[in-house]
Amino acid sequence: MIHSIEALVVRRVEELKPVPEDATARFGTTFTDHMFLMEYDTGEGWHDPQIAPMGELVLSPATSVLHYGQAVFDGLKGFRSADGEIRLFRPDAHAARLRRSAERLAIPPIPDPWVVESFLRLVDIDRRWVPAGPGTAIYLRPTIIAAESAIGLHSASSYLYFLILSPVGAYYAEGSNPVSILATEEFVRAAPGGLGEAKTPANYAASLLAADHAIARGFTQVLWLDAIEHRFVEEVGTMNLMVRIGEEVITPPLAGTILPGVTRDSALTLMRSWGLTVSEQPLAIETLIAAAKDGTLAEVWGTGTAAVVSPVGEIGWRGERIRVADARPGAVTRRLYEALTAIQYGTAPDPFAWTVTVPAYN
Ligand SMILES: *Cc1c(COP(=O)(O)O)cnc(C)c1O
Repeated sequence: MIHSIEALVVRRVEELKPVPEDATARFGTTFTDHMFLMEYDTGEGWHDPQIAPMGELVLSPATSVLHYGQAVFDGLKGFRSADGEIRLFRPDAHAARLRRSAERLAIPPIPDPWVVESFLRLVDIDRRWVPAGPGTAIYLRPTIIAAESAIGLHSASSYLYFLILSPVGAYYAEGSNPVSILATEEFVRAAPGGLGEAKTPANYAASLLAADHAIARGFTQVLWLDAIEHRFVEEVGTMNLMVRIGEEVITPPLAGTILPGVTRDSALTLMRSWGLTVSEQPLAIETLIAAAKDGTLAEVWGTGTAAVVSPVGEIGWRGERIRVADARPGAVTRRLYEALTAIQYGTAPDPFAWTVTVPAYN
């Protein structure tokens, strides 16, 4: 039987933790009082949704996710506006992406409305944790893991969904200072037919050595190229990539190896509504480097929930460090940052109905 989220059981903590003053000091290290849990078993479907005190998970060392990485996650934010309301940014788009990631990893998907409701219910119960300072937010991390205690390789018969919350500040130490990115021909993030479209732990495990390489060479992030020709730009670190050459904004198309970013989609929608020329088309690294050298490369930026937009000031390619324009945040980068954050914090109208106010359930 498929239980409905209406059967939600709420077990509150006996003693609320003090909300630390510097809770946003380091990304993802502080968590709120509660978590959301739900289980799946073959024949039963998703069942027993509950809000419980934030605590440990007890897992057998044989738990399948620990061996084969059958897991997916997502990441989104809620923002406190001046009127005290908390708004989640595009929770429906994140629930839909969690479902598509789950499908790729052979994990039984959770109905989108249940996932959205888990977001709203948990943020509501822990709303005193949502910070109010500029650039701050509550970060939501929904995750699904294969929870079967068996080391045979097959898609599992039981799963665990959990949602945890972390108050966060500005994501990058550099703030809005431009990052430097190193294009790699050695490492690959995603190949056609692989996992690139899914938010799944394997992609991040595969990226760590490349990131260490880039950092050891004095760069902040990796510029990922396509897996076949090592020629077409795909993503930057864990962000989608956008460039402006002359008056045209170009971003690589979603053709299977690129994570379909919600911020990417929001930025494209905004730029089109402003009448900018925007195209989703493959972009070769030679074209990018040539444009940087002949002065037509106006700006390069990454998009993602963590930083919203992240300007790129320098590109490393085959031993050369190439400056992007004057290495300062460009006009479209700044306009996107202002427009998106104004919608998120409720200081501007929300013409695309992207934000959802967290209701008071009790
Ligand atoms: C999460 C992620 C993004 C950005 O997605 P948003 O929905 O905008 O946060 C881009 N690329 C990768 C690889 C990601 O994991």
